Amino acid sequence: MKLSDRITNINGGGSDGWGVFYRARRMINAGVPVTELTIGEHDIRTHGDILAAMDRSATGGHTGYAEVPGVADLRNKVAKRIAERTGVPTTPDNILITPGGQAGLFAAHLAVCNAGDKALFIDPFYATYPGTIRSVGANPVSVLTTPDNGFQPVKSTLADHADGATSLLINTPNNPTGAVYNMGTLTGIAAVCQDNDLWLISDEVYDTQVWEGTHISPRSLPDMAERTLVVGSMSKSHAMTGSRIGWICAPEPIVEHLINLATHTTYGVPGFVQDAAIFALDQGPAFEDAVGAPFARRRALTLDALQGQNVVRPVPVQGAMYAMLDIRSTGLDGETFANGLLDAENIAVMPGESFGKAAAGHVRVAMTVDDDSYVAALDRLVAFAKAQVSE
Ligand code: PLP
Repeated sequence: MKLSDRITNINGGGSDGWGVFYRARRMINAGVPVTELTIGEHDIRTHGDILAAMDRSATGGHTGYAEVPGVADLRNKVAKRIAERTGVPTTPDNILITPGGQAGLFAAHLAVCNAGDKALFIDPFYATYPGTIRSVGANPVSVLTTPDNGFQPVKSTLADHADGATSLLINTPNNPTGAVYNMGTLTGIAAVCQDNDLWLISDEVYDTQVWEGTHISPRSLPDMAERTLVVGSMSKSHAMTGSRIGWICAPEPIVEHLINLATHTTYGVPGFVQDAAIFALDQGPAFEDAVGAPFARRRALTLDALQGQNVVRPVPVQGAMYAMLDIRSTGLDGETFANGLLDAENIAVMPGESFGKAAAGHVRVAMTVDDDSYVAALDRLVAFAKAQVSE
């Protein structure tokens, strides 16, 4: 029996770039104490008050099928939140509630791409991007950025790839680079989308975690709302990764089709999770700031820890929960460095190569362990890097 080409090709035949991560997990399972700075998961759990709201909803009976597009109150709140944050008029009809941002990325691509279409994405990229595009039958094509301008996409490079493309996927604040796209970058992106009639899929799941600059949603740029699908999530903003709750904000006719898709795939999101999300959004910005505060603090600790040497150089962390470190002066590639660091120091970081070609010679550090362990791990990482240079 033969499986479909589409499902067997999701990883594109190559490795998924998560070798160091899986090796670290095996070491941990075997009892080795590893400092894990790999994945984007907070070191706090979902707040007890949010869980209590979920419990109240479930025990109160919201355990049956929930409305497929999302419960009215949540669609309302998300629409209001987006309108307030971006200034773009947004109604509940622009919103589909999804089981997390990842489901939103898949649905958004399925909405705009036909099989075989060229779908652009920016390198370095969040690990699932090419596989998500392949999952809908489209053809992922990367557009490289460079470390010298903080991994901001450049208009002319984008334009060089745009001919014949259907969509462009961007992510700001960015995982893995920590870049927050500035107005110049976003104006260039908007111009390329308009000149080449591209759909823009804008992954904004880190929009509450900005440490330098301002988050600008490209949907708010002139004439962009009609061609932009924004993917949002409460995973990062509210430490609700396991609840699987997010949304797509898109023009109304697209949302109508997306509701059809949801009816035939997820059949919506559990009502008690949506009620917990309503409660969480009602806590307001102070709650979101508190969730993000450890990363803001560790970003400062990163800069302190890397001062006074230039073997390990930080790419400016403008947002999100990661620090991208340039280790090219060690002469090692990111993968060799990360494997060596795991063996020598029991510290797990992600090789830049896991996120594409543009981040080669870098490693990504997730700022997701307590401050003392984090600083100690960075000190050992720097010592390890220095030892490579002097060897
Ligand atoms: N987009 C980016 C850039 C991410 O880093 C992640 C998760 O790490 C996601 C989307 C998916 O998030 P979720 O499906 O938990 O909302």
